[in-house]
Amino acid sequence: MSGVILETKHLTKEFKGFTAVNDVNLKVQRGHIHALIGPNGAGKTTCFNLLTKFLVPTSGQILFNEKDITFAKPAQIARMGVIRSFQISAVFPHLTVLQNVRIGLQRQLGTSFNFWQSERSLNKLNDRAMQLLAEVDLTEFADTVTVDMPYGRKRALEIATTLAMEPELMLLDEPTQGMGHEDVHRVTELIKKVSAGRTILMVEHNMKVVSGICDKISVLQRGAMLAEGTYAEVSSNPQVMEAYMGT
Ligand code: ADP
Repeated sequence: MSGVILETKHLTKEFKGFTAVNDVNLKVQRGHIHALIGPNGAGKTTCFNLLTKFLVPTSGQILFNEKDITFAKPAQIARMGVIRSFQISAVFPHLTVLQNVRIGLQRQLGTSFNFWQSERSLNKLNDRAMQLLAEVDLTEFADTVTVDMPYGRKRALEIATTLAMEPELMLLDEPTQGMGHEDVHRVTELIKKVSAGRTILMVEHNMKVVSGICDKISVLQRGAMLAEGTYAEVSSNPQVMEAYMGT
């Protein structure tokens, strides 16, 4: 299998004659943390929705492990291992953090709540959920009702429920959105930690967030690819600076 896990070829999305994503060729290498960044209106969200199959492209192709997934459904790509972070709204606010992660695991295993499940399998499920919580540093919140968890820690729960689905490629949509400095730092450190042995593609507005953690950065502007490279490369590119200054 090639080093490229996800590729887009001439990916284009038009909305009633307006081109929101324009001929984008993206290559995500296996094992990388790759960021798709750009100023407001650059087409990041549209791109994310195309990759997660919530939108169908006007033209172009999307390949996952060299397989054409351009017209696949969200559930199909999830089964293939392409997992988007679930918004906190997708978890059950009045269940505990541990219960929510357990539900994520049960989804993955294809089992439903069942009072007759053996105690052994329930214990195993619990152990795995606790392991995932430890991985995202949420052990202390295991018994906290989710709605009572501090805002800054909720992304960690989203990441835990995403990990429960055993992603081959994790897609994160603005993981630090709306957070203060300290939480931004915590989440970026967490992304770095969970990236070990995994591939992550994250959409992010804030260039500083991606500076310390990304192997590769692709910069969009007005729907098109403006520049690609390491943080050092894109942050010293005058066109990129200008695009950001203009917003
Ligand atoms: P970003 O996430 O980088 O801020 P978006 O992908 O949200 O950018 O938007 C890119 C452009 O596409 C914007 O000009 C936006 O107004 C336009 N756009 C996004 N979604 C739609 C839609 N459903 N219909 C029409 N225009 C849209």
